[in-house]
Parts: sequence; structure tokens; C-alpha cells
Amino acid sequence: MSNSKFKTKKCPYCSVVLGADDTICFSCRAKVGKANEHGIAEKPFDWMAYTLCILSICAFAYFMWWVFLHHK
Ligand SMILES: [Zn+2]
Repeated sequence: MSNSKFKTKKCPYCSVVLGADDTICFSCRAKVGKANEHGIAEKPFDWMAYTLCILSICAFAYFMWWVFLHHK
């Protein structure tokens, strides 16, 4: 990989030093990605949380629409 010059990386959330291959911060339990050019772990994009958020908004909008029609 291209970012192999670092043996450690910093957690972007709590700044604790992690191993370069760690995927979860032992201090704040956050998911961390690879080290960037500054030796700081990148924040991985959480597709599952993003999708669940969109789905819950859609479900809420649909529910409001349904309630609105239901009472007409
Ligand atoms: Zn952390």
C-alpha cells in the first residue's frame, strides 16, 4: 500500500496513537481507516449508518404522507 511509511497513526477523534494496521481505536472505540500523509487515521465513510439514516428519513416522510392522507 502507498501509506506504509507510518508504523503508527493517530486517532482522528481522540488523538491517541494507534498501530498502523488498527481498524478500531482502543481508546474511543471509533472505526479508523488508513493513515493519511500526516500520519493521522482517516475517518472511514460509514455506508451502513448513512443508508439507515436515509431510510429512516424516507420512512418518516412516508409515514407523515400516509397519516395526512389517512385523515382526509
Ligand atoms: Zn480514538
